[in-house]
Amino acid sequence: MSNALRIAVLPGDGIGLEVTPAALAVVDAALAAAGAPPLQQIPLSVGAQAFLDTGTDFSDEARRTCTEADAIFLGAMGLPAVRKADGTEIVPQIDLRFLLDLYAGVRPTRAIPGVPTPLADPRAATIDFALVRESTEGLFASLGKGYVEDDARAFDTQMITRAVTEKVSRFAFDLAERRAERPAGKSRPPKVTLIDKANVFVSFAFMRKVFDEVAATRTTAADRMYVDASTLSFLQRPWDFDVILTENMFGDILSDLAAGLIGGMGYAPSADIGDGHAVFQPAHGTAPDIMGTGKANPTAAILSGGLMLDWLGTRHQLPALLDAGHIIERAVDAAFATGRLRTAELGGTSGIREVTDGVLAAVRAGA
Ligand code: ATP
Repeated sequence: MSNALRIAVLPGDGIGLEVTPAALAVVDAALAAAGAPPLQQIPLSVGAQAFLDTGTDFSDEARRTCTEADAIFLGAMGLPAVRKADGTEIVPQIDLRFLLDLYAGVRPTRAIPGVPTPLADPRAATIDFALVRESTEGLFASLGKGYVEDDARAFDTQMITRAVTEKVSRFAFDLAERRAERPAGKSRPPKVTLIDKANVFVSFAFMRKVFDEVAATRTTAADRMYVDASTLSFLQRPWDFDVILTENMFGDILSDLAAGLIGGMGYAPSADIGDGHAVFQPAHGTAPDIMGTGKANPTAAILSGGLMLDWLGTRHQLPALLDAGHIIERAVDAAFATGRLRTAELGGTSGIREVTDGVLAAVRAGA
């Protein structure tokens, strides 16, 4: 029996169906370039189209395959016109976070050479931070539990637990320490910045207290910032951030702001990580407005493939996979640094084919 690592592949809907094969082609090429064996890919039909076809968006069998896989790669899911009987959206990607206890949502945010940022300051070219969004509690703990009283008052309740805050804080410090070991030029002094609203809400004051307890056990620098002030820092000096840790809802909002700093959703990869499982997916949605036009930017999905190889390489102590992950990052940089690629969301005409071919060529040229 093959002992290849097994990847559950969930392309999903909309441009998820387009960017997933692009990302996996780059993953295959990077593995070959690094001398590593290919991954075994198990395609699964999950999402809005699966719901239309079968009446269920995320079958028990697909759940079991995801649970047993070594990693999960996801495109994007949901379509505006497809709703469940109660009117709610099809969001198996959120179900997965709860099913597999993926408490750390990691959104690496790095300026890619050759991709314009909306900030005029030249230091924007050095933006390189990772936002860690706690992904199983916070305000999202209220998912499916909010209620309206007498058509007069509505309630959603935030929950912060000690156990998850300790775990995700330790995760953020570990991540900062790993990032500091990157090759010269990429490394920066490790620091974890907690973003909260501890001056107003008891739940955030508790989150900060638990974070401080974890920080006291580490040598890495710790900082704290209120969420309102953080939005100013995101615009005025985002290059000063290293690792950011924040609550689920704040992370939902701040991660889109972060993507905006480096060119938009098409450049924002993500990893949802737990103790035993991880899902890798571009941070964008299914973008129904451009699906089927060839305009989708596959960079976020390609970089998510690189994050998957990095995570698998670390977890299974396979240096060739770590190399393959680095190859993907370098190839993306090399492809865009030529200045010939300008994607549609930035006013250019480079679509999925051109970007994928550019990155594949860079992988093969030994970027
Ligand atoms: P969701 O609610 O799941 O986030 P959405 O359609 O509201 O879905 P996105 O799918 O992220 O949000 O799209 C927001 C906008 O960004 C759309 O106008 C879309 O065209 C654009 N966009 C998103 N991803 C890409 C991409 N990879 N390449 C080009 N444009 C993209």
